[in-house]
Amino acid sequence: MKQFRNTVIRAGLEALYLSGAHVLLRPILSGVGAIFMLHHVRPSREGDFQPNHHLEVTPDFLRAMLTHLRARGIDLVTMDEVHRRLIDRDFERRFACLTLDDGYRDNRDYALPVLREFDAPSTLFVASDFADGRGLLWWVAIEKAIAKACSIEVTIGGVAMRLDTATAADKQSAFDRLHDWLRSLPDYEVQREVHALCARHDVDAAAICRDLCMSWNELKECAVDGLVTIGAHSITHCNLAHQSKAAASEELTVSRTRIEAALQRPVVHLAYPYGDRNAAGPREFALAHAAGYKTAVTTRPGMVFPESGRHLTALPRVSLNGNYQDTRILPVLTSGAATAMWNGFRRVDAA
Ligand SMILES: [Zn+2]
Repeated sequence: MKQFRNTVIRAGLEALYLSGAHVLLRPILSGVGAIFMLHHVRPSREGDFQPNHHLEVTPDFLRAMLTHLRARGIDLVTMDEVHRRLIDRDFERRFACLTLDDGYRDNRDYALPVLREFDAPSTLFVASDFADGRGLLWWVAIEKAIAKACSIEVTIGGVAMRLDTATAADKQSAFDRLHDWLRSLPDYEVQREVHALCARHDVDAAAICRDLCMSWNELKECAVDGLVTIGAHSITHCNLAHQSKAAASEELTVSRTRIEAALQRPVVHLAYPYGDRNAAGPREFALAHAAGYKTAVTTRPGMVFPESGRHLTALPRVSLNGNYQDTRILPVLTSGAATAMWNGFRRVDAA
């Protein structure tokens, strides 16, 4: 199913490119700028089973993106500058802002050197438990369990079942099944189920966090780079919409103070974990505002329009998705045609 969806999206992006429609639509759809979302930046890896591949782009693709933006004369700006332009309604020049979620070490090793080549600022959104080395990157944990297993036994909705994981195709469908199920559960159940799965399949969940995420000391080194802004991404990387109001509020306020204390600099920008409609809605947008964030970004696809200035804690982003690393889609992404297609041509989606 996921494969089918990828194919449809790819066909849509190609059609937009080949028809040249993105060029005609650019003045209408491109808005005043875009906030791009990345996760991992690292060289591509061998292997048929890479279910989290959408979360990584290569340094070369990032370089192609920055080359494209510079060639179009688009300003590469910080989140502070996005905020300023929206408040001052300063839309004379188009902007692009690059954001990277979760605080992965590959951001330091592969993304920042490329960004420096272009003098491009970026914002790293850090989940404080990840920097503490005790976060649960459950989507990677289940990938690792499935990768080494021939079958996985789980109880989904009270029904015990055995998912075949012998071939790459089996592994992918088992991953999709587990992923969709876990996304629907409260976070404490995700923790319990994933820890149980890891125990059964000898996966060290704590090591995943330490292997992939930067420690506070490493983040400190990034934070002194004048091109890097550190933002917050909650404490535990939970689905905020699944939490009580008090717990969600604590995730937003405590993560902020922890990062500020560790890095000795103000934290005024937020990215909601998961950030889609099921994880961040009007309640979370209000909580982010109350917690004192100047801006908060979602994963809802979209360009930034002048009216986004009225929804500073519900800003859309454009995902640089690892499954579509074709340089031909860059003009489609920056034209706004791709996200407009996803949004049914609505300009602001903050409800
Ligand atoms: Zn995240």
